This record gives sequence, structure tokens and C-alpha cells, in this order.
Amino acid sequence: MFGMAGVNLRLEDAMALRNTVGGPVLEPGSEGCEAECATYNLTCGLRPAVVVGASSELDVRAAVRFAVRHGLPVAVKSAAHQMVSSAQGGLLITAQRMGRISVDAQERTVRVEAGVRWSDVLPRTAEFGLAPIVGSAPNVGVVGNTLGGGQSPLLGRTLGYAADHVRWLSVVTADGELRRVTPQSERDLFWALLGGKGNFGVVTEIEFEVFPVERFYGGGLYFAGEYLAQVLEAWRAWLPTVREDMTSSMDIQRLPDTRRCPSRCAAPS
Ligand SMILES: Cc1cc2nc3c(=O)[nH]c(=O)nc-3n(C[C@H](O)[C@H](O)[C@H](O)COP(=O)(O)OP(=O)(O)OC[C@H]3O[C@@H](n4cnc5c(N)ncnc54)[C@H](O)[C@@H]3O)c2cc1C
Repeated sequence: MFGMAGVNLRLEDAMALRNTVGGPVLEPGSEGCEAECATYNLTCGLRPAVVVGASSELDVRAAVRFAVRHGLPVAVKSAAHQMVSSAQGGLLITAQRMGRISVDAQERTVRVEAGVRWSDVLPRTAEFGLAPIVGSAPNVGVVGNTLGGGQSPLLGRTLGYAADHVRWLSVVTADGELRRVTPQSERDLFWALLGGKGNFGVVTEIEFEVFPVERFYGGGLYFAGEYLAQVLEAWRAWLPTVREDMTSSMDIQRLPDTRRCPSRCAAPS
């Protein structure tokens, strides 16, 4: 038996799952499981009963069907910058092996699988003078970011949210079916997914628009917390003086002491 929090799966069940998916199936304590569950935010640890390292949409379908058969909640981990559930006792699908990207410079669209990060997309579109509506952190996952709206502190003031420029999504819903979701084919699901994170299914692929960006000037300025009041005052005074195409945002973070946790912090970044 394996699993936790009252969820016990028989070894035969795990074997059956292994036989249906191409990627690894890991249980707590098995080799590679901790690395597979590692998160960027060290306060959001994952404690699933079983992990499926999906390598294709077929794997995602098999994992969702398995979870439904065994009454397990499903959680998805893409680039692991923001887990919204601990996956306690559930089935965790990890997406990092799904890394296909295709760029259509003519149509100005990009299609990516669920494990792709913005840092993978940017160099591919830059070749054509194009850019997606990307957030401030390049290592954030495209799908996770877009499903939350995808606010862009870089291009957002001019072009809006990343979610507003999605053409379609491929999604495995709770019935284990793969659906191509467009505003025409599945109007409500399309609307719910873009803002609803992983609550309506597991997205395996997404297509979105990209935009010509000829010139870009940007970056980040970092100040120690003791200067917060002065920095906020200066920022407030400066903002009304900038052009409409200038996007600026402020972030206040208490960062962990990475010297204390070298192994865990070495995981995804
Ligand atoms: C340093 C930092 C900077 C950030 N900057 C910005 C920013 O500038 N703008 C902005 O909008 N956001 C920003 N964010 C927030 C970020 O967009 C979200 O945390 C986003 O969800 C990260 O996606 P991920 O794939 O890395 O995370 P994950 O933790 O892997 O996934 C987050 C959640 O997204 C859902 N999800 C992920 N993949 C799938 C999938 N394939 N199918 C269904 N659901 C899925 C799940 O609910 C999952 O729990 C930032 C976060 C960090 C840590």
C-alpha cells in the first residue's frame, strides 16, 4: 500500500497506472518524488499520495481517469511558482515534461504545452520581433500564469492581460475527456478557465497571440525594507509623470534565507 492522509492505494493500482502512462509514477518516499514535488515557495510544500510526471496529454487523461476511479483530488504543478493546493492525499500531475513550443510568426500566434515557461517562449518569439504578454518573472509557467489572468507589469498597460489574448486551450476535464476549448465551441468553459486556474480541468496546451515589440526598456530596482516609506513616496510622485505605455509595479517581498535550505532551493527557479 502507499499513499497518505487516509488514502491508501494498492501496489497493483500503482502498477496499472504505470502501465498506462509514459512518464514516471512516483509515490511518497520513492526516488525522485521529493524533487518532483519541489516548489518555489518553500512554505507551500506538496504532499500527494501519488505523482504522475505527465509526458503527453494521454498521460494527463490516464492520470485524471485514475484519480476519478479512486476518488482522489487532482492538483497540477507546472513551474511551481504558486501552488494553490497542497495536494494532500491526492494525485499530483507534474507538467514539466510537456515542453513543446511552436511559433507562427505569420499569424502572430504561439502554441505551447503545459510545462513551458515564459523564459522558453521569449527567445523563440524575439527572433521575429514578437513578444507575448509576459509577467515579471521569466521562470513562471505560461499556463499557470495565463489561467490566473496573466497580469503583465511590462506590456499590460498597453495590451491588457495575457488571458485576453488566448485563442484556444486543450483541456482534460473531470470525465477524462480532452476538449479543444474556444470561445465558440465551449463558451462558458473558455471563460471559466481564464481566471479559474486549475479548477475546471487540466490544460495540456494553449494558443495565444503575440505582439510586435521593436524596442523595450525595462528592469527592476531593489531596495532594502528599511527604505520602504521613501521608495513608496518617490514612486507615487514619479508615476503621474510617465507616458501611457510605461508600466510600473511595486512588489514587497520577504525572501527566505536561501543559505539555510540549499537542497530545496536548488529545485525549480
Ligand atoms: C517571483 C514571481 C513573480 C510573479 N510575477 C507575476 C507577474 O508579473 N504577473 C502575473 O500575472 N503573475 C505573476 N506571478 C504569479 C504567477 O503568474 C502565478 O504564480 C502562476 O500561477 C505561476 O504559474 P506556475 O506554472 O509557475 O505555477 P504552478 O505553481 O505550477 O501552478 C499554479 C497553479 O496554476 C494552476 N495550473 C498550473 N498549470 C496548470 C495546468 N496545466 N492546468 C490547469 N491548471 C494549472 C494550478 O491551479 C496550480 O496550482 C509571479 C509569481 C512569482 C513567484
